[in-house]
Amino acid sequence: MNNDILKTLYSEQDIADACQRLGAEIQAEYKDRVPVAIGVLRGAVFFMADVLRNADTYMETDFIDVSSYHGGLASSGTIDLVTDISTDISGREVLLIEDIVDTGRTLKYLIDLLKQRGASDVKVCTLLDKPSGRVVEATSDFVGFVVPNEFVVGYGLDYKEQYRNLPYVGVLKPEIYSTN
Ligand code: 5GP
Repeated sequence: MNNDILKTLYSEQDIADACQRLGAEIQAEYKDRVPVAIGVLRGAVFFMADVLRNADTYMETDFIDVSSYHGGLASSGTIDLVTDISTDISGREVLLIEDIVDTGRTLKYLIDLLKQRGASDVKVCTLLDKPSGRVVEATSDFVGFVVPNEFVVGYGLDYKEQYRNLPYVGVLKPEIYSTN
């Protein structure tokens, strides 16, 4: 798998440092309150596990699965709700945990959905923010790294459902796209 990577953008150490910083920010934000942290499957699983273990504060956790990429390189533009949360979030503060915000469509869809469900507040923590890809307005409260306009894989992010278990974030060699 490592041989398919052209370059590393964020090393394991870079990511660990970011999780520590973001965990401390989340801990300070929710001091004395109990938010529901909702991870967006499947990409946010690795990040969620690491960032939340750096936040020494009470919280509940849940997951939601939405799909927009269908495993390829470009967003389809349509968001499907694949698996819903099981927590009643009415009147609750929600912290959405995302792997990457690109066009912003997924985030907007999720924030609208969670507000419809009665969440009193929705904040967003994302490992990566790709502002150059933005199509709809979407801002995050806690951001790991601002990424250049490149398709990245690793640490939860996939290409055709693979590479999620790469422990760092990198860019694939061009021949991987052309031959797969
Ligand atoms: P958006 O709706 O903001 O365009 O995209 C959000 C989702 O698209 C992310 O949760 C992620 O699954 C996928 N995505 C966006 N950019 C990338 C990228 O550079 N690499 C990978 N692997 N997935 C991406």
